[in-house]
Amino acid sequence: MEDQLLSIEQKLAGGERLTRDDGLLLLNSNELLRIGALARLVKQRKSGNKVYFNVNRHINLTNVCKARCKLCAFGCDADASQAYVMEPEQALAIARQAVADAPEMTELHIVSGLHPDKPFAYYADIIRVIHREFPALHIKAFTAVEIAHFAKIAKLSVREVLTVLKEAGLNSMPGGGAEILNDRVRHILCPDKATAAEWLEVARTAHQLGIRSNATMLYGHVETPEERIDHLLTLRQLQDETGGFQAFIPFPFHPENTGLSDLKRTTAWEDLKMLAVSRLMLDNFDHVKAFWIMLTVPIAQISMGFGIDDLDGTVVEEKILHAAGAKTAIGISKQEIIAFIRETGNIPVERDTLYREVRVYEGSEA
Ligand code: SF4
Repeated sequence: MEDQLLSIEQKLAGGERLTRDDGLLLLNSNELLRIGALARLVKQRKSGNKVYFNVNRHINLTNVCKARCKLCAFGCDADASQAYVMEPEQALAIARQAVADAPEMTELHIVSGLHPDKPFAYYADIIRVIHREFPALHIKAFTAVEIAHFAKIAKLSVREVLTVLKEAGLNSMPGGGAEILNDRVRHILCPDKATAAEWLEVARTAHQLGIRSNATMLYGHVETPEERIDHLLTLRQLQDETGGFQAFIPFPFHPENTGLSDLKRTTAWEDLKMLAVSRLMLDNFDHVKAFWIMLTVPIAQISMGFGIDDLDGTVVEEKILHAAGAKTAIGISKQEIIAFIRETGNIPVERDTLYREVRVYEGSEA
């Protein structure tokens, strides 16, 4: 094991790409601090001492979802007591409030359930009305799973759906719904939403249309170490082809209130290793993000020593993961993010969605 890690260290020193076997070796190794140091080195080459965050606001248009995935604690039936659906005016009112509360906000992050009755026009209208009133605000909306759903209900191609949304004001896409890009796993977790091939095809088409996106991985449920590494390699291959992914975001599975509630939540050790291994395997991704809401602030903070250079944003009102028992706050202030990045000796950088620097907090000002 020792020697094999040494050969990985040598490969990384020479800028060589790691193989599937290397990935498995890293994932099965217990040398967490050594792996973390390697990931930190790679991160330093990419973004130096900078750690990014943005000022954003999440909006979840509806929790009514016909897919009812086993992994999900958010989606529900239309007649459930917690069911809700926002109309375009309500979504616009939230956007207005968010801008009033934080005039420096640069991004709205919009994802939702797959409503059984709402037509594609409903989603396009929401993007249109928000974009019309706030043309400078970056709208990052709809996972590849939602886009595949829109294509089905509207009987349009994925390309046509994305073209309509882009014209309405969609700027980029979040990376959700990737889970593990393997149909064995998807059959257990989420048989009624986009397949691995469909998810990848949406991302490919979006990138071809100039819509950048992120990619996620939900780990810590029924997947094997091989399936985790293959997920990374699949994304690396698509990134070689399109260059359209901005950041990779590994999420630990939160079992509470899901159809897999008998599973145990991953440990901090496993989370940190997964973040570091992601950084090492995805040599063509500029950023690997620790989504503090899922990881908790303490683990997100430590992850900055394990190759992470992005912490997502202020979020304000997260619903999806909190339905699954996330105990983190539903949002965080900009000052808190700046303080906890600084504490690690890194430089907090406020960015927009496309990673253009809005402000670098070099000194002690907040
Ligand atoms: S994960 Fe997404 S598609 Fe699946 S039930 Fe939840 S909201 Fe619906």
